[in-house]
Formats: sequence, structure tokens, C-alpha cells
Amino acid sequence: MESSSHREATYICSGCLTQHPRARIHVLPTWNEHVADFVTSFRCDRCWQEALAWTRLKAAVLTPATREQFCQFLERHGGGEAAGIIRQATLEDAACQVGIVLDCIEGDRLRLMP
Ligand SMILES: [Zn+2]
Repeated sequence: MESSSHREATYICSGCLTQHPRARIHVLPTWNEHVADFVTSFRCDRCWQEALAWTRLKAAVLTPATREQFCQFLERHGGGEAAGIIRQATLEDAACQVGIVLDCIEGDRLRLMP
């Protein structure tokens, strides 16, 4: 007898709107114009790099407000240490640090928690 509680949790990719197991899903910050904030985005193996490229465009022109929003995003997903570094940097350096964080996500050296 199968129990539904043993089913693997699946996530909907917000790029292609199909379901994927956790292992195939990347947790990304993406900029949402509607709410004017960085929001959590689940993307599958095929869609995540394109989504990250859009985040890079937005993060390349940080303002004090978007810097803080990015830091709060990191804190919500287990990246508090990086958030602390970004907050202490000048705005120019912060944009650079955000780029490094995105590099780490892209290189799978930083895995954000859903
Ligand atoms: Zn997808």
C-alpha cells in the first residue's frame, strides 16, 4: 500500500510551470517588478540560468533600497553571512559582492534553502 506521505515533495518551476523534485530545483532571487522586490523563485535545471541572468541585470544597478531587499532575501534563505558583508560594503562594492553571491549560486557553491 502506498502512502502519500512518502511521496517526494515537488516544486513548480516558475519558468516552465512543470513539477520537479527538490533535487532538480534551484532556489533563486528574482526581481519582481509588480511587488518591486527580490522574490523567491524555483527554477528547474533548464530554466534557472536564464532567470539568474535577469537577476544579474537588476543587481548590477543597486540602490540602498534594492541592496537591503537583496540582503533580506539572503537572510530568508540561509545566506545571512553574505548579507552581512553586502550591508557593510559601499554601494559599488555591494553590487560587486552581490555579483559574487550570484556567481556562487551559479557555480553551486551556495545553495539557498527554500
Ligand atoms: Zn523550468
